[in-house]
Amino acid sequence: MKIHLAEKRGFCAGVERAVRMVEQAVADGPYPVRVLHEIVHNEDVVDSFRKKRVEFYDEIDPSWTGGTLIFSAHGVGTAVEEQARKMDLHLVDATCPLVHSVHKRAASLESEGRTIIFIGKRGHRETEGVAGRLKHRFILIENRNEAELFQPEPGKEYAVLSQTTLGKTEYEAVASILKAKIPGLVLSGGICAATSERQDSVRKLAEICSKIIVIGSENSSNSRRLRETAEEAGARAVLIPRAAALPEDFTENCACIGITSGASAPEYLVEELIEKLKQKGGSL
Ligand code: SF4
Repeated sequence: MKIHLAEKRGFCAGVERAVRMVEQAVADGPYPVRVLHEIVHNEDVVDSFRKKRVEFYDEIDPSWTGGTLIFSAHGVGTAVEEQARKMDLHLVDATCPLVHSVHKRAASLESEGRTIIFIGKRGHRETEGVAGRLKHRFILIENRNEAELFQPEPGKEYAVLSQTTLGKTEYEAVASILKAKIPGLVLSGGICAATSERQDSVRKLAEICSKIIVIGSENSSNSRRLRETAEEAGARAVLIPRAAALPEDFTENCACIGITSGASAPEYLVEELIEKLKQKGGSL
């Protein structure tokens, strides 16, 4: 069994930066070090920080005084940021600069009088952060069906933005449905270069491997998109958080297996998987 690795995989610059910022806070304080939401969507990364006594919360507790509060890489809305700034906390903003740039584009398009249509996942932290940066109506569209059902209001101007970790194929399909319905629609993108590169790499991997393993957490949007991209390209794909979760029969009768990893998955998880596959007769 030949093992092939995706050329672009694993930590992106935004995740590396966010992880570094938490490490810095662990080293320097002030304590306690709290993070709003999972710093990145990977349970190994979060657990390793929990072991260093970093605390993770879903929302701000107004009774906190002192210590550090870190915003995760996915960003937060204006109200959350303002609430935190008024408190006696040392704030560290680990929002990825590319997410900040989506916030800025959304706010600027809104200030020009456009209603923002956001292509993204309901309940995802990044979606909530962008919605929370806008003053007026925010329309969320998750998929092609919702785009088909959407009825634009006559005379209204719209602009489309998307989650940074969306699948390219899904974005393009949804955007083209909306474009056909809304004259003068502004398409302002959103998918970041790291997401695109990882999806392009897994597509290339699917040209040579019929089975692909994606290392990443189930709650990681970009990791789920890598599994979908591999499947769209014709491969059988699994998304697993670590080597131990690999289904025993996945490598049966397999001459060539591909490995990739989500933008929030540390490389040592890929190395563990390679070791496991080598024990099953695989070679790089
Ligand atoms: Fe930033 Fe893109 Fe990485 Fe998200 S996936 S943290 S937007 S570089």
